[in-house]
Amino acid sequence: MPARSAADVRQRGGVCQLGSAFKVYGWAIIACLHPKCGVPSVWRALILFAMKAAIQALTSRIAPPVCVLCGGPGQIGDEVWGLDLCEHCEAACPADDAAETLPSGEPVRALFLFRPPVDRLIVQLKFRLDPAPSRVLAMLLARRLRAEPLRPPPCLIPMPLHPRRLRERGFNQCELIGRQLGRRLGLRVCTDLLERRRHTRAQSDLAAAARTANVAGAFGLRPGVGLRDGVALPRRVALLDDVITTGNTLSEAARVLREAGVAHLEAWACARTPQDARG
Ligand SMILES: [Zn+2]
Repeated sequence: MPARSAADVRQRGGVCQLGSAFKVYGWAIIACLHPKCGVPSVWRALILFAMKAAIQALTSRIAPPVCVLCGGPGQIGDEVWGLDLCEHCEAACPADDAAETLPSGEPVRALFLFRPPVDRLIVQLKFRLDPAPSRVLAMLLARRLRAEPLRPPPCLIPMPLHPRRLRERGFNQCELIGRQLGRRLGLRVCTDLLERRRHTRAQSDLAAAARTANVAGAFGLRPGVGLRDGVALPRRVALLDDVITTGNTLSEAARVLREAGVAHLEAWACARTPQDARG
């Protein structure tokens, strides 16, 4: 075994000291953040602020956010890990401020109108297994919903895909957004209540009159769920879809949930097709 030089030993000792210091200070910071440790909340807030700033500084150097639409630099802003959408592209996405309802009467909260460049964002979301578009949409939807005066329902149900569609695509884009949205807003994400029983044709391929019939009976409760089977559903639920066109699909899912005892329902979406583009 070769003898170690004095420089090696010094360097190794330095690395060990640095590692130990990180461990000691790391545990000290974690202990300070615990509410029972007695550290005043102002100090806890300051420590959290400093940690967020340090992570943001590191993120901007090591893995800076990249805009999913133009490939330019994304935004750091309030987000710890940055937003993969540049200010220019975000400003180009038309916000949906209309107070719409589903055909079945439930209120709709949609983030954007389904117009360029939002359509490209949705295509990326649906057809590429890339976490960036779902992360961007979840961040922006969470920001929008936090600004709403009303408290959101505690339970979020992403619209389920038929098993055949799920096999073809490999993932459910609504569930990807729903999980991130749930974490950000502190909501329970329920993917085990509602199922898609019929493989329906895409609503966009059909005339307006045929769309209601196309989705009739498309959804049902999962086995063991519902008043009759003893497992009650939450009283207040938000249904999440990627794009709302006529709202017939969401209305059919809402009908099933209402019949099972859900008292308050609302629909959330990343984008809504404006009236003049529904065909
Ligand atoms: Zn951009």
